[in-house]
Amino acid sequence: MLAKDMDLYIAGGSIIRAMFEDGLRLARRVGPENVHDFSLGNPNSPVPPEFNDAVRAVLDEEDSSFVHGYMTNAGYPDVRTAVAEDLNARFGGDYTAENVLMTAGAAPAMNIIFRTLLDPGDEVLVFSPFFPEYTYYVRNAGGVLRPVSADRRTFQPDPKALRAAIGPKVKALLINNPNNPTGAVYREEILRAVADVLTERSRSLGRPIYLVSDEPYRELVYEGAAAPWLPSLYPDTVVGYSWSKSLSVPGERIGYLLIPSSCADFPRMFLAAMTVARTAGYVNAPSLMQRTIRRCLDVWSDVGFYDRNRRTLCTALSDMGFRFAPPEGAFYLWLKVPDGDSAAFVRRAFSHNILLGDGTGFGCPGYVRLSYCVSHERILRALPAFEMLANEYNLK
Ligand code: PLP
Repeated sequence: MLAKDMDLYIAGGSIIRAMFEDGLRLARRVGPENVHDFSLGNPNSPVPPEFNDAVRAVLDEEDSSFVHGYMTNAGYPDVRTAVAEDLNARFGGDYTAENVLMTAGAAPAMNIIFRTLLDPGDEVLVFSPFFPEYTYYVRNAGGVLRPVSADRRTFQPDPKALRAAIGPKVKALLINNPNNPTGAVYREEILRAVADVLTERSRSLGRPIYLVSDEPYRELVYEGAAAPWLPSLYPDTVVGYSWSKSLSVPGERIGYLLIPSSCADFPRMFLAAMTVARTAGYVNAPSLMQRTIRRCLDVWSDVGFYDRNRRTLCTALSDMGFRFAPPEGAFYLWLKVPDGDSAAFVRRAFSHNILLGDGTGFGCPGYVRLSYCVSHERILRALPAFEMLANEYNLK
């Protein structure tokens, strides 16, 4: 017999599997070049040559038993120091290696921090729509994810709704900025209001409500937008980061968890997280990737690659009559479904060989997510299909 809640995991997996299999079937029928697949968040901007050079340099120049060996579970001290110094230079902190736990990407960072913070039944709030895997990251630690609606016009956080949602079981607020699936970049003044609500409610509860900031899209911002540095707005903030998107290396599994010394219960929190990382089975972040990242902390994939797609899509879709809040970050466009029936919209899009993500899966029916982390040619090739879809909905 499986554990009782495995039905939920199997159901979650089968939605993704069904989407993937539908895509494969379509590709066999019409040819892969005629499938307009905007369903997945697999980064397509080329890996910077500096990254590949760094991998080679690590292998050529560093001692191999050191490079491939065990290290302290938090990661190589020199790598953690380099990450801390990079953050200090960029965001004005005073972090050291003692604040940085290297992880195999953002997903483990989130799983580790929730296992570190949550008792069974504790609640984690998140603004909806949200990345569907969050449900599992929290559940894996025995917690319950509770969505709070973001502002439905701008998809910015809603501090008032947050205040109303904080009950006695709430242990943390999870924020994802820049946001998947909306492409919103949360504004500093709104995040300050969020921090004020957390401070006020922490005081009345007599314990801190932690802010967990998931930032795999930090570097993917457009037109001068920037994700504010949350630890400088709220002391009980931990940050999960990943190079999956910023270097286009999601298969390599590398990121970190930052636990600032300002967090209540530091340094116990760091020691606990380090042991969770080991005992939950992550053990340590991949060693070759840690050594590589140390050499390319100032390198990113070309954000212009996504920006070009974003501009082309925004102009074309808006000319066709579609409605959306223009994305300022990540590589997602969050489209409002004309008649509100997102499941039907996804099916109709499919009949034009377009694959999209139904907003229902992100906790927000009535919208669809379009991932534009694809080649520019793919965007251009898809536009006539979107035009046909717009005509079906009589958008003009
Ligand atoms: N958080 C968000 C919002 C994501 O979109 C993703 C991946 O798509 C992750 C976390 C997981 O990223 P990683 O590859 O670093 O585990």
